[in-house]
Amino acid sequence: MRFTRTKAAAAALLLTGALAACGDAGSGGSSGGGADVDVAEDTKFPAGSTMAELAEAGEITIGVKFDQPGIGFKSAASDEPVGFDIEMGKIVAGTLGIEADGITWEETISDNREPFLQEGKVDIVIASYSITDERRAVVGQAGPYYVTGQQLLVAKGSDVQGPEDVKGKEVCSVTGSTSIETIEKEYGATARGFGTYSECVQQVLNGSFDAMTTDGAILLGYVAENPDELEVVGEAFSEERYGIGYQDPKDTEMCQFLSDTIEASYQDGTWKQAFEATLGQSGVEAPEPPKVDPCA
Ligand code: GLU
Repeated sequence: MRFTRTKAAAAALLLTGALAACGDAGSGGSSGGGADVDVAEDTKFPAGSTMAELAEAGEITIGVKFDQPGIGFKSAASDEPVGFDIEMGKIVAGTLGIEADGITWEETISDNREPFLQEGKVDIVIASYSITDERRAVVGQAGPYYVTGQQLLVAKGSDVQGPEDVKGKEVCSVTGSTSIETIEKEYGATARGFGTYSECVQQVLNGSFDAMTTDGAILLGYVAENPDELEVVGEAFSEERYGIGYQDPKDTEMCQFLSDTIEASYQDGTWKQAFEATLGQSGVEAPEPPKVDPCA
């Protein structure tokens, strides 16, 4: 990740609605790996808007996962998390004119994403956070910026080879996720909800559970860490559209800003750089970025 300053990038974004390629996004993500993120200078946001408040403060708190390799991961040895969601967070911060050192990364788990937004503990959430009607009723979600699908992770050689094999079985998943709902409601499994997916990985590795389930993009990160022991089986059986959560579902300006920022990252190459430096490291090619939902 490299931050460079680009004058009036955010103002241009607001004026045009879609940002033209800006700065040196194509010049290669040298230092640290990741997207070349421009930090906008002289940003102009509507007075009193959430964006203006954040830009003025020069600080933003972003809720992210800390235990999902490739998406949001922080090792004990490092101060900073890494992953695709982290890169997206840096892109949002940069567009607000906020430098890297103005970002506070707050760990969120699946079950506390809405409460953290509602309580103001975080300004935004970028945490493998699927857009759903239920969530959009209580917090804002802009996007999607990425689409994946639910799958199963098992110990190599397991009898479980797809969702049809888990009926009546106990499967490990995470409380507050779409994954736990889908596997119970649509596939008749008994799901046990843990706090985090890394706990489920341990349960599968030590043989306590035959399978765990969540988004394929998350599971692939765990396989990459344990390639001899674990595998992802079966086709994806849901559509998980990752969005950026914000506090007030009625804050249409914030929705539009985040949507424009996501779309700008498609145009200027930073989204692709972010993907290739993170999820792409496991050999997955960057897909076509998804179309962003309109803001109401
Ligand atoms: N994307 C799904 C969700 O938002 C599963 C992954 C997660 O729990 O973070 O619930």
